[in-house]
Amino acid sequence: MDAAEFRRRGKEMVDFVADYQENIEHRRVYPDVEPGYLRSMIPSEAPLEPESYEDVLRDVDRVIMPGVTHWLSPHFYAYYANSTSFPSILADLLSSGIGTIGFTWAANPACSELETVMLDWLGKMLQLPEDFLSETQGQGGGVIQGTASEATLMALLSARLKTVKCVQESDPQRSEADIISKLIAYTSEEAHSSVEKASIIGGVVIRMVPTDEHFSVRAETLEKMVAEDKATGYIPFFFCATLGTTPCCAFDKIDELGPICNAENIWMHIDAAYAGCAFICPEFRPLLNGVEFADSFSINPNKFLLVGFDCFYFFLPLHLFSTSLSPHLSSDSQHWGIPMARRFRSLKLWFVFRMYGLRGLQAFIRKHVELAKTFENLVRGDNNFEICAEVVMGLVCFRLKGSDELNKALLKQITRTGKIYLVPCKLRGRFVLRFVVCGRTTELRHIQEAWKHITELSSELLQNLFD
Ligand code: PLP
Repeated sequence: MDAAEFRRRGKEMVDFVADYQENIEHRRVYPDVEPGYLRSMIPSEAPLEPESYEDVLRDVDRVIMPGVTHWLSPHFYAYYANSTSFPSILADLLSSGIGTIGFTWAANPACSELETVMLDWLGKMLQLPEDFLSETQGQGGGVIQGTASEATLMALLSARLKTVKCVQESDPQRSEADIISKLIAYTSEEAHSSVEKASIIGGVVIRMVPTDEHFSVRAETLEKMVAEDKATGYIPFFFCATLGTTPCCAFDKIDELGPICNAENIWMHIDAAYAGCAFICPEFRPLLNGVEFADSFSINPNKFLLVGFDCFYFFLPLHLFSTSLSPHLSSDSQHWGIPMARRFRSLKLWFVFRMYGLRGLQAFIRKHVELAKTFENLVRGDNNFEICAEVVMGLVCFRLKGSDELNKALLKQITRTGKIYLVPCKLRGRFVLRFVVCGRTTELRHIQEAWKHITELSSELLQNLFD
C-alpha cells in the first residue's frame, strides 16, 4: 500500500468507524458465538502471497464483527467503560502514523515533554498536592502506563525496594531474601484481583483487610492487623487502598488510613482506576481527601474520561521519585514502568482535554452519574428488586429479592437475549448484578429500555417459579 492508496483507504476506514459508531445501538451488544468460533473461519496459516485489501476488509465483516462485544454501545453496562471518543481515536491514528517510540527525551522529545505536561494538567484538574506535579521542580511526578495492574505492580515493587534498603540501613547483615520473606502487604477484601497478582509477582505475603458496612477499609481494622503482624516478626510495607472498588464502587477511608501508613512506614498506593476520573468534579473531590498521605496514586482515564484504552496515569510525589528507584537510574520514563519502549499516549489526552475542556469532561461524568441515579430509582420503585450498595457514581449494584439461583437465571436470560450486557459480582457472598452506565451516547431512553427489558425477563422468571 503506497501513500496514495493509504489516503483513500484511510478515508474509507474513518467512514467505516463513523458508520459503526453511529449505528452501533442496532447491533446485538453481546455476540452470539461459541468459544473457538473464529478458528474455523480463517486459514490455519498466514498467506504466502499478498492478499487484497478488499479481501481483508470483507473478512472484517464476515469473521470479526460477529464475534465483537460492542463496548461502545449504549446497551453495554458491564465492567467499567472504555470511554473513548472521536478526538481520542484521531489522536491514536496520529500516534500510529508518526510511529514514534519514547523512552528517553532524545528518543522523542515531544513524547517525553507532552506526557509530563499532560500529567500536570490532569494533576491540577484533580487538585493533587503540588508534590505530585512535575512542574514543581521540573522533574516529573508520574508516568502514563497501560493498565492499573501495571501501576499497582510498580508501586508494590518500588515499596519493596525502599523497605529492603531501609531495613538494611539499620541492619546491614540482613540479607535481601530474608527481608523479603518477612514483608507483608495489605489491601481490601474488595480490591481488584490485580493487587493480589502484584503480590504474587513481587513474592510477598498479602492480607485482605475486612471492610465495614459500606465496603470501605477503616483505620482501626488495618491498625490491628499491622500490630498483629509486627508482633509475629513480619514487616508491614505496602497498603493498596481503593477509591471506587470494582464490585460496588466503594471508597476506602484514605484520610484515616494515610496517617497510619505514614507512621508505620507503609507505602500507601491508591488505586482509583475508575472513580478517580470523577474527582475532577468538585462534588466528588472530597473522596480524595487524604491523597497527601499517599506514596503513589493511579487512575485510568480510559474508564471515565473519554480517552481510549490504553491509558493509565501513575503519580508519585516528588520526594519518592529519587528514593524509590535505584540511584543509577535516571528520570527517563523508561525507568518508571516495566516496558522500556512507550507509545505516544499523551497525544490522545491532549486532544481530548483540549476538545472537551474541563467543563465538557465534568458534564460527561455528571451525566453518567445522573443516569445511574435514574436507574437506581427505577430499581427502588420495584418491590421485587433491591439495591445492594450505595450508588455514588455510574454503577448500580442490584438484585432480585430471593436466591442467588434466581439472580443467576435472570443474568443468564439477559445475556442470552443479547439486548443489553451486564456482568455480576459477589457482595458479602451474595450474587449481585452490576449495572454500569458506560456509553458515551447512552441516554435516558436507553436506561428506561434496559430497565423495561430487565423487568420483563424477571416477570417471566418469577411467573415460571410460581407456575
Ligand atoms: N483496579 C480497579 C479498581 C479496577 O476496577 C480494575 C478494572 O476494572 C483494575 C484495577 C484493573 O484494571 P486494568 O485492566 O487497567 O489493569
